[in-house]
Amino acid sequence: MQTIDQSYIEGAFVPATGDEVVNIVNPATEAVIGRARLAGLDDARRAIDAAMRAQAAFARTTKVERLAMLERLQAALLLHADAIRDATIEEYGGPVSRARWVANYASQCFGDAARTLASYEFERPVGMDGASAVAMEPVGVCGLFAPWNSTAGTMCSKLASAVAAGCATVLKPSELSPIQAHVVTRALHDAGLPPGIVNVVTGRGADVGAEIGRHAGVAKLSFTGSTPTGKLIARAAVDTMKRVSLALTGKSASLVLEDADLDTAIPLAIGAAFMNSGQACVAGTRLLIPRNRIADAIERVRVAVSALRVGDPRDPATVIGPMVNRAQFDRVQHFIRRGIEQGATLVVGGEGRPEGLERGWFVRPTVFAGVRNDMDIAREEIFGPVLSLVAFDSEDEAVAIANDSAYGLQAYVFSNDEDRALGVAARLQAGTVLINRVAPDLLSPFGGVKQSGVGREFGVLGLEAFLEPKTITRSPRTLKSM
Ligand code: NAD
Repeated sequence: MQTIDQSYIEGAFVPATGDEVVNIVNPATEAVIGRARLAGLDDARRAIDAAMRAQAAFARTTKVERLAMLERLQAALLLHADAIRDATIEEYGGPVSRARWVANYASQCFGDAARTLASYEFERPVGMDGASAVAMEPVGVCGLFAPWNSTAGTMCSKLASAVAAGCATVLKPSELSPIQAHVVTRALHDAGLPPGIVNVVTGRGADVGAEIGRHAGVAKLSFTGSTPTGKLIARAAVDTMKRVSLALTGKSASLVLEDADLDTAIPLAIGAAFMNSGQACVAGTRLLIPRNRIADAIERVRVAVSALRVGDPRDPATVIGPMVNRAQFDRVQHFIRRGIEQGATLVVGGEGRPEGLERGWFVRPTVFAGVRNDMDIAREEIFGPVLSLVAFDSEDEAVAIANDSAYGLQAYVFSNDEDRALGVAARLQAGTVLINRVAPDLLSPFGGVKQSGVGREFGVLGLEAFLEPKTITRSPRTLKSM
């Protein structure tokens, strides 16, 4: 049994002062594995005050000093990688291969931010006659919000950009991830940054999160989570005109073009759909196939998905772990039922638990064919291992179906003809389009269009999201005398 009862404020672990104590449940066994006292409003305010005190000095640090901090963070996170992996398996139910990736990524993202920072020019000439220059300055104290499906990765990648920019932070991990958040925080502490640059308060969104969202001392919110919460964040931010980056819900489409090689495309598309047990914002959960190849594709998908190993997340052979909790299990069941009610054809899977898995929040990897774009399973983010197959008659129709969504986070295109794939990519409404691959390029910007978000993370655009341009223009008289 683990007890998590601390917030991290001004370089020290301090008792969390919230009233609420929650059970921590291993989703693979439903066993209670710990108790967590959540952070309260008081913790949030003290964390913001600490960040505000640290901000002025941090903003004056040099690029070289911040590069050294990122290096220390990267090394500290690497030393704690095994603990992050284990917490991701135990508390979240992430399959070990995924958990290992997450643990390495938590360290690597500091290295990625350092690479971006190393070549970034904070000052540049602009305007006419050499009279003006723009200085990119840290925006100020930042509130960083992480969802439960990506605790370590989101905490670390947001922090990496904020540190690169010179912004002190208050991190607000999900109340569903206290162990993962604590393990990451221990690693952040070991990096030995000056007190106040990193503060962590793991509390509920409605109080701790909302306080960070409205506090006048916070200049920017970088939020990753669902679209409805993102809207609350954006509304709250407007009163003090906080800068806002929102990485939100997805309903990504995978397009298999007429000429694609199904031997290559289908396994990649299945990887895109079922990654992170389907609990991924970028999961490619709508698979669009040319109508003349749909029968072949359905059969290939049926065989491949039937063979996906569901079960103990500690087992290296496991591809699909449990859903994070009962609510998420129920949500997936609801959508499988809706798919059947609305007339989609069940290809594999269905309601209930997989055979032999009576305990744990395991669901059956499920595939529907004959899906129309007006069905709930095609429109809403299910956030579980449920894939919809949609037939199309022309490339124009495929693009129209893919774009007929409130969301636009990521899309996948599979084709043997790169020019053709690039042409389709240009027409897709998505923040990122991956061609013949599922792995992202972590140094390029990431974010959504439409209701999938506002702004970009990673790379130069991700760094600039934590910076504010200041223009300095001198008078012609001064210029002449120089
Ligand atoms: P969520 O919106 O419920 O919560 C996200 C974070 O916001 C949590 O830390 C939560 O405590 C906090 N929060 C909740 N209410 C708040 C409020 N009123 N004010 C301030 N903070 C509040 O999301 P979730 O269920 O934790 O995560 C799943 C969602 O996140 C999915 O929709 C998924 O697509 C999305 N997501 C998006 C990305 C991306 O990069 N676009 C990545 C991962 C997850």
